[in-house]
Amino acid sequence: MRTRKFTLSEQEIPDKWYNIIADMPNKPLPPLHPGTKEPIGPDALAPLFPMALIEQEVSGEKWIDIPDEVRNIYSIWRPTPLYRAYGLEKALDTPAKIYYKYEGVSPSGSHKPNTAVAQAYYNKQEGVKRIATETGAGQWGSALSFACNHFGIECEVFMVKISYEQKPYRKLMMNTWGAQVHSSPTNLTEAGKKILAQDPNSPGSLGIAISEAIERAASDPDTKYSLGSVLNHVKLHQTIIGQEAIKQMELAGDFPDIVIAPFGGGSNFAGLAFPFLRFNLEEGKNIRCIASEPSSCPKLTRGVFRYDFGDTVGMTPLLPMYTLGHNFVPAPIHAGGLRYHGAGVIVSQLLKDKFIEACSHDNLEVFEAGVLFAKAEGIIPAPEANHGIATAIKEANICKEEGHSKTILFNLCGHGNFDMKAYQDYFEGKLVRHEITSEEIQNSLAELDTPEIA
Ligand SMILES: *Cc1c(COP(=O)(O)O)cnc(C)c1O
Repeated sequence: MRTRKFTLSEQEIPDKWYNIIADMPNKPLPPLHPGTKEPIGPDALAPLFPMALIEQEVSGEKWIDIPDEVRNIYSIWRPTPLYRAYGLEKALDTPAKIYYKYEGVSPSGSHKPNTAVAQAYYNKQEGVKRIATETGAGQWGSALSFACNHFGIECEVFMVKISYEQKPYRKLMMNTWGAQVHSSPTNLTEAGKKILAQDPNSPGSLGIAISEAIERAASDPDTKYSLGSVLNHVKLHQTIIGQEAIKQMELAGDFPDIVIAPFGGGSNFAGLAFPFLRFNLEEGKNIRCIASEPSSCPKLTRGVFRYDFGDTVGMTPLLPMYTLGHNFVPAPIHAGGLRYHGAGVIVSQLLKDKFIEACSHDNLEVFEAGVLFAKAEGIIPAPEANHGIATAIKEANICKEEGHSKTILFNLCGHGNFDMKAYQDYFEGKLVRHEITSEEIQNSLAELDTPEIA
């Protein structure tokens, strides 16, 4: 019998995270204070994050130890399996060999607990009693609820109102793990009250929910804030994905030519790709790493590289990144996790320096890819994950046209079992092709008054 699934033992869960900053020829530029536009130091973040995470955020150390207690919790679902996609290869009739790393086996169903557990651990170490956060579609809120529950930390989630109403099961997952979930905007914060005064029926937005969670953390010494993507320490924690995948590709007797992952803020892409990029940076290997984004929110393929805010309201430091402008409001596509205006700082610098590539796919194309995958491989992917599948299919089709074989590895970063409404809309023909115009992008970027990067 041929081997389809490549598995590692619990003892093989990596014991270090890989910090790619140590290997980057051009280090990321510093964050700037939103008022003075001067570089800010790590202590500016102290009201929001525990010191251990701030140290990781600015660390230049190449390898950072994973605490034993974190590895013990990882072992509930890690190492995650790596599959050879025989079914998909057959369906595409391609000479390419396709593999995927499956992160949907975690308790909340995506890669996000990899960082949620680490973040909850360091908060616990520093005596933090409560963590406030925002969630859009609910993946991050449920991952953090699971992690906080484990360490006996209270978790307060500001969930965008429209998702709160449309995704009751994600909210109930958070409740099951003991989290308190608010429909944002709320009357609990000044930011929320201000929005409600303007529009009592506001559907909410991720930007508003972030403002509420940050305000909560900044105004209570026992409460910290936590973010599920974008930041350096979040990407760092996700690098266990790629490290496991390297060992599993060895088991398969193979090695990828192309590594692909969907892209929201960059954490699952970083998680799979950075450990492979190390071979390019250290040994001059030439593995192509491709970030896959929605064509309705194309910051990597059509945005600009400059300083911008991480949130909509403008409360965060200014970060050097590929952005569509912090006021950019993406179309309400179902891949909620990819509807973010900017990109993480490290990934942005790597793209600028041409160490990685990016591509975009339309909403309809990704659901076509997701349904094809579900039929061929069995697993129903998260709408975000469908973007990586669409890129893998595109590359496999190129192999077929050109008559050569390549080894393709992609990150199946989550399952779609709580996203069936998105599939329903697709089946009922309610999803439309959506391409934003250059004018819309220009208009959004024209509102940026932040420093250009030379
Ligand atoms: C949050 C999320 C993403 C996007 O976030 P990244 O930080 O870019 O990984 C992608 N897929 C799933 C399933 C998610 O939950």
